[in-house]
Amino acid sequence: MGKKIAEMTETGVVTVKSSDSGRAASEVGASDGTTQHFEILVVGGGLAGLSMSAALASAGIAVAVVDRDDPENMISVPYDGRSSALARGSQQMLAAIGVWPHMAAAAQPILDIRVSDGKIGRATSRLFLHYDHQDVSGEPLGYIVENRATRLAFQAHLPTLPTLTRFAPNELSELQRGADGMPGANRVRAVLKDGQVLTAELVIAADGRNSTLRREAGIRSTNWDYPQCGIVGTVHHERPHEGVAHEHFLPAGPFALLPMTDGEKGEYRSSLVWTESRALTPHMLALDEAAFCAEMQRRFGDSLGRLRMPGKRWSYPLSLMHAERYSDHRLALIGDAAHAIHPISGQGFNLGLKDVAALSECIVDARRLGLDIGSPQVLERYERWRRFDNMALIATTDGLNRLFSNDLPPVRLARDLGLAAVNRMPGLKRFFMSHAMGLVGDLPRLIQGRPL
Ligand SMILES: Cc1cc2nc3c(=O)[nH]c(=O)nc-3n(C[C@H](O)[C@H](O)[C@H](O)COP(=O)(O)OP(=O)(O)OC[C@H]3O[C@@H](n4cnc5c(N)ncnc54)[C@H](O)[C@@H]3O)c2cc1C
Repeated sequence: MGKKIAEMTETGVVTVKSSDSGRAASEVGASDGTTQHFEILVVGGGLAGLSMSAALASAGIAVAVVDRDDPENMISVPYDGRSSALARGSQQMLAAIGVWPHMAAAAQPILDIRVSDGKIGRATSRLFLHYDHQDVSGEPLGYIVENRATRLAFQAHLPTLPTLTRFAPNELSELQRGADGMPGANRVRAVLKDGQVLTAELVIAADGRNSTLRREAGIRSTNWDYPQCGIVGTVHHERPHEGVAHEHFLPAGPFALLPMTDGEKGEYRSSLVWTESRALTPHMLALDEAAFCAEMQRRFGDSLGRLRMPGKRWSYPLSLMHAERYSDHRLALIGDAAHAIHPISGQGFNLGLKDVAALSECIVDARRLGLDIGSPQVLERYERWRRFDNMALIATTDGLNRLFSNDLPPVRLARDLGLAAVNRMPGLKRFFMSHAMGLVGDLPRLIQGRPL
């Protein structure tokens, strides 16, 4: 195994000739023509799948990534209207795998976070929580980056990775993962829609919250639909944001304006994440720009001056999903395929990046010792590492959403007092800030900004 891997590393992707592929063919299924062999097969080339592929390839691992969408479409403006709040740990990881230089210019540092509790059409509550980056290290608390800018950064970086091959648009028409104790059990074999055959030691499901691989592996999940949608888009405003992220809690859910880099013509911009009831969302989306902006202004107030929204609006139904386990024979789940959470704390992709950092470290460590990189021991180490952290954040975000999307006077009073209390306790505030920055717990090397 060790020698074979060394050969793969030198040559990148190894194309196994028919006679050699016969080993895989006779063991796990029939194959005609040539079979391309990789060490890892990643299914899903969204933000988590691309991060996983780039992280592994940064360590010289032969990796194939398959996505059903066309990469050109994935970087078009209409594809994804979201921006993501990236925690400091996530930024350090993207730098460690070489992607950050391609997106740094599009990343707005978050210097302050202001959380307030209010009612529509009324000035914000007097009680609020204020996180200032000067209270921690003086470094930014995180960054806001348009998802499109992150995808463009990957698009620029992937061709520099000789051991990575992207199959897109394409999808799996067949996947065999052998069976424990059977010949061929140490391989997965995939047939793509266009007939190409790929084999690998391990398949990683990064195919999103409705993951086909998770379902086909029989891994059950907890699912909960929130009666809310997230309305997102880019807002232009009269006054500069000064790097401040605002989260304003309203009865329907949080209304956030997150600071973005200035637009091409120097416009001051923020990213809107407006949680609204599912029933009202279509009505809000159908409003003309003036009426829509008046609704935003009623909710946000005028601290940034007049708000405008000349571009497209998107809406995403919000739900919670947690897989009951993150692995199966020769299969690991990462990102939204393993867990999908409410965007109230802007942590979904950040959690996915922690999965990527932990799993790639487990794989690389096993490979360095000449061990089987798809073995149950590797997958158990990954699951132990990630499950508790993910569960804790899922519970916290769900609890926060229930607590804040609630207009009952006693609940409002209790949470306002809670916010004010936390605001007055510097130690507790620093604790929450370090969590939000993704710098707490047993951190994988990549999250610490170190190479694999
Ligand atoms: C309104 C909103 C705001 C958010 N804000 C933040 C934020 O501020 N910070 C943050 O960290 N997170 C945020 N998130 C969460 C974040 O966007 C997601 O966690 C992240 O995009 C998930 O990425 P993923 O790659 O795991 O899944 P996906 O983005 O769903 O990607 C899955 C990929 O798999 C492909 N695919 C699916 N099935 C197949 C198949 N059978 N074969 C081949 N390919 C397949 C799809 O084409 C897709 O490219 C937000 C989410 C929402 C809804």
